[in-house]
Amino acid sequence: MEKLIITAAITGSRITREMAPYIPITPEEIVQSAIECRQAGASIVHIHVRDPDTGLGTQNLEIFKQVVEPLREQTDLVLCLTTSGIPGRNIPTEERLAPLELKPELASFDAGSINLGDGVFMNSPEFLDRAAAEMRTRGIKPELEIFDLGMLITCLRMLDAKKIEPPAHFQLVLGTPWGAPASPKSLIDLHGYIPQEATWSVIGIGRGHLPMSAMALAMGGHIRVGMEDNIY
Ligand code: ZN
Repeated sequence: MEKLIITAAITGSRITREMAPYIPITPEEIVQSAIECRQAGASIVHIHVRDPDTGLGTQNLEIFKQVVEPLREQTDLVLCLTTSGIPGRNIPTEERLAPLELKPELASFDAGSINLGDGVFMNSPEFLDRAAAEMRTRGIKPELEIFDLGMLITCLRMLDAKKIEPPAHFQLVLGTPWGAPASPKSLIDLHGYIPQEATWSVIGIGRGHLPMSAMALAMGGHIRVGMEDNIY
């Protein structure tokens, strides 16, 4: 049996101290939390950093360095840096892709556009092509974040077109109010489209966390945990 890969999504971009008193916000807090997650068994950390003024997500390279450098020195964690910024805020492509400069092993790749609250989280074909190309030239593996079946189909097309190199690594995001639900039917359906040689992992958002994690484990998948996805 394959080893289980646990990804810890330390902080995300939107959860505030008011919503969750233990959410790590500063670079020091994020580093400390990542080290504790490593000690608890996580092998990948998914990293966002926060703007010290707003407390919300930022793609500021200097702040990313304050997290990435100590983690490189002190741990053997596999680093997955976000390219989403604040989903729905739709910042310029250069800014979103800035963390790739730090050559993490993995970077998130939101494989299509989706409604988010009153807005739209834009991931146009042009953006996806550019993100995939920049990751490929730097030897960074895209973590293919899948919020619905259309995004998975998009990734299969990009694999076919050799824009993404196999074996792919999928992260199925189940239970956002706008995408695939956190249900067994939904997971089994998405799983059916994943190529044999690919690795895959599941994020169950909020109350979907435990049931979807348990199901992924039983099906031979990997899991993501952490306060980006579930503040409890
Ligand atoms: Zn994220």
